[in-house]
Parts: sequence; structure tokens; C-alpha cells
Amino acid sequence: MKIILEKVVKRFGETVIVKGADLTIEDGEMFFLLGPSGCGKTTILRMLAGFYDPEEGRILFGDKNIIGTPPYLRNTALVFQNYAVWPHMSVFENVAYGLRVRQVKGPELDKRVNAALAQVKMSHLSERKPSQLSGGQQQRVALARAIVVNPDLLLFDEPLSNLDAKLRIEMRDQIKRLHAQTRMTSLYVTHDQEEALSLATRIAVMNAGIIQQTGTPTEIYNKPANAFVASFIGEMNFIPHTSKLGQALHVPEGKKIGVRPEHVRVSPQRDLPLHGTVLISTYLGSKNELTIKTLEGEEIRAWSPEFIPEGSSVTFAVPDNHMHFYPIDDPVASH
Ligand code: ATP
Repeated sequence: MKIILEKVVKRFGETVIVKGADLTIEDGEMFFLLGPSGCGKTTILRMLAGFYDPEEGRILFGDKNIIGTPPYLRNTALVFQNYAVWPHMSVFENVAYGLRVRQVKGPELDKRVNAALAQVKMSHLSERKPSQLSGGQQQRVALARAIVVNPDLLLFDEPLSNLDAKLRIEMRDQIKRLHAQTRMTSLYVTHDQEEALSLATRIAVMNAGIIQQTGTPTEIYNKPANAFVASFIGEMNFIPHTSKLGQALHVPEGKKIGVRPEHVRVSPQRDLPLHGTVLISTYLGSKNELTIKTLEGEEIRAWSPEFIPEGSSVTFAVPDNHMHFYPIDDPVASH
């Protein structure tokens, strides 16, 4: 189902938390809200779930304005970081619960619960209690419980943040496969750029209650609309016109350029226009991350496919087609 937020404003007391959000989530999308802690993304998710309503604006599910509709009358389902599976119920009963509430019974109930458990590869554990499951398995149960009711909107609130790194990648793949199979309209809230880039059909990047940019993962990464987005997603060098490097690169007055480290060309020979020394060299197998110090003492990060040891003299270049121009005082994300 298509979901639209129009000029949505949410205040808590005097503080404006969401400052006029406009968003369209197309039917079948896996839409991400990405931003730092406290930017207001969970507040948007909760307004969609119906836990509270905005002070201004409209929220449409299809063509129906659902403001004022209580959570249980909105056909949404939520997966969040603390799994929230019921400890006293078996896996089967946890998944069946939402259907029983909706008066689904008998063979139809069995069929739907079994199908949802099969989709998250949990059929063989259907009689277990949650205490007999790992964190990853509990999260699969939570996922099955959410999809079994066939929600108009599936909401994910940082669902992977309690899992260790390996499980997180496994669950990420699981969610991706599940979405490819079901095409359920989904909104996923996270501060993890990797989750967003790898799973999203589109991403809205938020900061301080304002949506900064909406686009596909490649649009957001390759054409960041401002310095905040550029620095929040991936790594970005910023070179102001006031620096020696900025002058060498002819950065226009009042501007800074952004360039990603993978686009800075580096050579151990003297064949590129700018000169420096490798201050830090971190070899990661697939790439070598370098911090290069220029003759004037300025630093730039560059990724080289080959290993270059610390202390090496290098030359480097910043290709014109990989420069992004921003106002010099455009704020950047603090990591
Ligand atoms: P996080 O990733 O840390 O959850 P977030 O982007 O999801 O961050 P929100 O949970 O939407 O952020 O909170 C945004 C701001 O609103 C925070 O400063 C928070 O303290 C405030 N806030 C959230 N809920 C309430 C509430 N019920 N009453 C007052 N302030 C609130």
C-alpha cells in the first residue's frame, strides 16, 4: 500500500522533533529512514504505527488519512530490536497470535503460520519456547509474526542492533530475501548506513528533524545533496577553498569540495600533480587505506588498490568528475 506523509510536524512540549516531513513510500518499497541518534526517525515510525499523532500535516495509507486511527485499527506490524516475543508461548503460538486476534482459525491458521515459519526457516523449531532460542532465532520469530498478518505496512525499528556482526549480516540477507518474495511495503529505521545501502529501495536521510535527501542508495552515495549527507554516508574528504590544497585544486571562493577516498588517485611514482607522504597506511586486503600528508601539512584520505608503506613519498590527484561542491559552512555529520 502506498504511504504518504504530507508536511508532518511533531512536537513534544516546546520542542519540534519532526519539522515538516514530506515522504512517499511507494507500494512494495523497502524504504529507509536513516540518520543519527535523536534525529526524529523513530518518532516518524511511531506516528505511522499510531502510537501518537502529528500536530500538523496528513498521513495517508492509500487514500485514507489515518490520523486519529488507533494502532490496532491500522494494519501495520512492527519488528524491533528487543524481539518482543512472548516467553510463555511456543514459536508457533507466537506467530499464530496476530491471526487469532483477527479471528483466523483451523486449517487456514495452520497453513499461514507454517508458511511464515518456512519463510524465515524456523519450521523445525515451531514447538520451542523463546528461551530455548538464540537471539537470531528469536528475531526470525518476530519477523514471522509480523509478516503472517500480511500488514499494509511493515515497520522495522533498528531490528538488527542487538545481534552480533555475523548474525546481523545473516539477518540482513534474510530480510532482503523476504522482501523480494513478499514485496510488503516496509519502512525501516536505522542509523546504520550499511543496512540502508544494502537493503533499501530508497532512503530518506534525516538530521535534526529535517529530511535532507531522498533517493536510491546509489543516488545518495554518488550525489549527496549536502555536506551532511556526504559525510554521514560513506567517507568524504572536505577541502575548503581556504586551504593550500583547495587553492591547488582551484576550489571556488566560499566553497569546499567533497571527494571520496576511493576517488583520490595515488601513485608511488612522481606522475600525478600533487605531492605528499603516507602518514598512516592500513592494509585491509581488498584495499589499502591511506592518510596522506601534503608538503604544507594538510591531510587527505585515499584508498589505493595496492599496498603503500607508511613514510613513502607519493603523488596524488583529485579527478574533476568526482568533486562535489558545497558551501564552505555547510555542516557535516559528527561521527
Ligand atoms: P534513536 O536512533 O536514538 O532512537 P531517533 O532518530 O529515532 O533516535 P527519536 O526517538 O525520534 O530519535 O527522538 C527524537 C527526539 O525526540 C529525541 O531528542 C528524543 O529525546 C525526543 N523524544 C522522543 N519521544 C519523546 C517523548 N515522548 N517526549 C518527549 N521527547 C521525546
